[in-house]
Amino acid sequence: MADTKAPQMLQQAVVMFSDLDKALAYAIKLRWPEGVACPRCGSDQNRFVKTRRLWFCKGCQKQFTIKVGTIFEDSPIDIGKWMIAYWMLISCKNGVSSYEVARTLGITQKSAWFMLHRLRLAMQDTFHGGGKIGGPGSRVEVDETFIGGKARNMHVRKRMALGKMAGGEGKTVVLGMLERGGKVRTRVVPNREGVTLQPIIRGHVKGGAKVMSDEHAGYNGLEADFLRGVSITRSSM
Ligand SMILES: [Zn+2]
Repeated sequence: MADTKAPQMLQQAVVMFSDLDKALAYAIKLRWPEGVACPRCGSDQNRFVKTRRLWFCKGCQKQFTIKVGTIFEDSPIDIGKWMIAYWMLISCKNGVSSYEVARTLGITQKSAWFMLHRLRLAMQDTFHGGGKIGGPGSRVEVDETFIGGKARNMHVRKRMALGKMAGGEGKTVVLGMLERGGKVRTRVVPNREGVTLQPIIRGHVKGGAKVMSDEHAGYNGLEADFLRGVSITRSSM
């Protein structure tokens, strides 16, 4: 097992995480502190294929990588660069700019901005701890965000239609659940069907919360467990 001790200085971080095995070991510790678990079926029975840096799940018989099921899933940026950017984000007390990250990684400022944005989203999710958000008297906004592709410039109806076959279009759909006051949960979802979205919402939001969403049919039926409200916000990156 590669050394997973956190580096102390930027130069050290760059050297350490340029070694993809070390970067992966560090990312594993962050993502699965209790041990590697399949993002699809939850099984902890797997075989690691070292040469390809992926796992074969003995539960669902499918392969997964460190990025599957996360908001990094559709990104071609390697895990080493992600970990360097992550390290910069948590280590620079006065904050880190996309320009600094771009310079360090040798990527464009636009890509660096995108990385920082996704990392902040992921960190909010992780560092606000596990457990459900919401509960009686609270309000939780749910929506789907398309990451990648050109969804942002599309008309809502077209995006919604496209969303039904997301994946095929090279876009990732992220279901976001945001409690007023700041707690957030995000999950990558394979599609926007109710059978996909609703179990996730029930798994992350306490019953009795007021769930605000747009009128997408995938949310019909949530009224059995939650108060309902209509929100007009729809986010896209
Ligand atoms: Zn599995």
